[in-house]
Amino acid sequence: MNLRVVETRTLMTKSIAIDGLVASGKTAVGMALANRLGSAFLDTGVMYRAVAWAALCRGVGIEDEEAVTALARSLDMRLVEGVDSRLLVDGEDVTNQLRSPTVDGNVSRVAGTPGVRDVLIDRQRAIAAAGPIVMAGRDIGSVVLPDARVKLYLQASVETRAKRRLEQRRRGGSEGRLEDVMRDIERRDSLDAEQSRPARDATIVETDGMGVDAVVALAMGLWEGCR
Ligand code: C5P
Repeated sequence: MNLRVVETRTLMTKSIAIDGLVASGKTAVGMALANRLGSAFLDTGVMYRAVAWAALCRGVGIEDEEAVTALARSLDMRLVEGVDSRLLVDGEDVTNQLRSPTVDGNVSRVAGTPGVRDVLIDRQRAIAAAGPIVMAGRDIGSVVLPDARVKLYLQASVETRAKRRLEQRRRGGSEGRLEDVMRDIERRDSLDAEQSRPARDATIVETDGMGVDAVVALAMGLWEGCR
């Protein structure tokens, strides 16, 4: 085994993988954990969103797998230092543009393109190899960082997740109906089923009735080897 591979594995064992379906609390938990550990945080969803956003802006057909893969390869993506997972795409901070309904409606199709996944997974591994990180997504513990020291898979009912999403929206000044949000979550769950792969050795956390602090405490316990 060459030195580079050994170093990369060592860094990965200093990482935390947090997977889960839409609105399962990955970002809130991941940011809080990164804060506690003084490490970076990457929400890998923003990378898939960035490819979907760029395809929509540049008129690249979402169905054209070759063109979308070439686009993903051509985009320069850099994580802004800090725990809020801001992304520079070709030097521009596009984070705030990545949560629009149009991006929401197209991102799963882009994420289901094998070439795009290959490109982004390589980049996610390169980011993890640069320093310890808390990384959130759908396949982090199973595919991207199989040697992560702690792997969590967060679960919650559709209703709990919809209520959390609505609460976030309210804080951001917008409203919505619970039934609509639940329907949207169910649609995204079925589109993302293929990409969502809990690692066999992940700790499955049922977060219904559990606040962010409790999940963070559980993760810290695992991190410190207390359990
Ligand atoms: O987490 P978020 O909802 O922002 O992710 C957006 C989309 O990106 C997901 O719906 C999923 O299709 C895709 N994704 C993925 N693998 C990841 C992270 C996100 O396929 N590791």
